[in-house]
Amino acid sequence: MRKSVALAAGNGGEENSELISGVFYKYFKNDILLKSEDAAVLEVGSKVAMSTDSFTVSPLFFPGGNIGKLAICGTCNDLAMMGAKPKYITVGFIIEEGFDYRELEKIVRSMKKELEINDALVVSGDTKVMPKGTIDKLIINTTGIGEIEKEGISSNNISEDDAILVSRDIGAHGATIFTAREGIELSSELQSDCASLYPTVKALIEAGVEITAMRDATRGGVAAVLNEWAKQSDVCIEVAEDAIPVSPEVFGVCEMLGFEPTMLANEGTFCLAIKQKDAQKALEILQKFNNNAQIIGKVSDEHKQRVVLQSSYGTKRFLDTPTGELLPRIC
Ligand code: MG
Repeated sequence: MRKSVALAAGNGGEENSELISGVFYKYFKNDILLKSEDAAVLEVGSKVAMSTDSFTVSPLFFPGGNIGKLAICGTCNDLAMMGAKPKYITVGFIIEEGFDYRELEKIVRSMKKELEINDALVVSGDTKVMPKGTIDKLIINTTGIGEIEKEGISSNNISEDDAILVSRDIGAHGATIFTAREGIELSSELQSDCASLYPTVKALIEAGVEITAMRDATRGGVAAVLNEWAKQSDVCIEVAEDAIPVSPEVFGVCEMLGFEPTMLANEGTFCLAIKQKDAQKALEILQKFNNNAQIIGKVSDEHKQRVVLQSSYGTKRFLDTPTGELLPRIC
């Protein structure tokens, strides 16, 4: 096998087939993909959810994951947040000429592992190779279709009957990428939270928890999600600052760099709006997956479309949507 990806590997000819069968089919093969038709023919029974995302993260490998794991988690998580079981995924690879074959294989292997966690299949794919210097190493696009298992989940329906929860300690992905990129050596356990959320969502659905809304706190972090929800549902979300779980490692990075943990990106952490009567039950289920899950707030009509952060001293301030670009190419 070649040591690096040649420009000709995107030519639709012999070198292209070699890359596809040597790397992509090797890990993604399934009956639908192997038919190699112009398009995948899918059996989809019920209502479906669909989502797409492109991944440009730098560096490609970071503690807790890599661009491939992220590309599967990112799209599958968006489906899961709508109460859908991830089923079918398409993958587009845009590769810089000269990219290392073994690195590509490592990335594809971790995609396969994440597909297995979601029990999802890659059913269609595309490969392009760009001349050296015209892109930075590798970009991956994934699109997914999921089968709705729980209907009616919507960030437009949050009301004063809901409690606000977060599934684990926040900000790990943003803090990890920042330190990895800046070459800051931290003798700590800090690693990205990058993970598939469908297993957690499935447990909540199976337990019959009344879920109003779920959203993974990716770019913009928890602050962005809560502000989007406050606006979309025309409510005030009140959060107790002390209740927001932040690991000592993430807290350390924030202290050092002047970031707010609520504004850091996550890739395996989600916010939930759950009917008050089910909040405790939901928390117990979330804590089986990560014991840092927490109920962080409630919904009121005090300051509509705003998020209010209450400190331990009883003072209140608004938590705003992050502005500017805190950290480019985080996902
Ligand atoms: Mg999302």
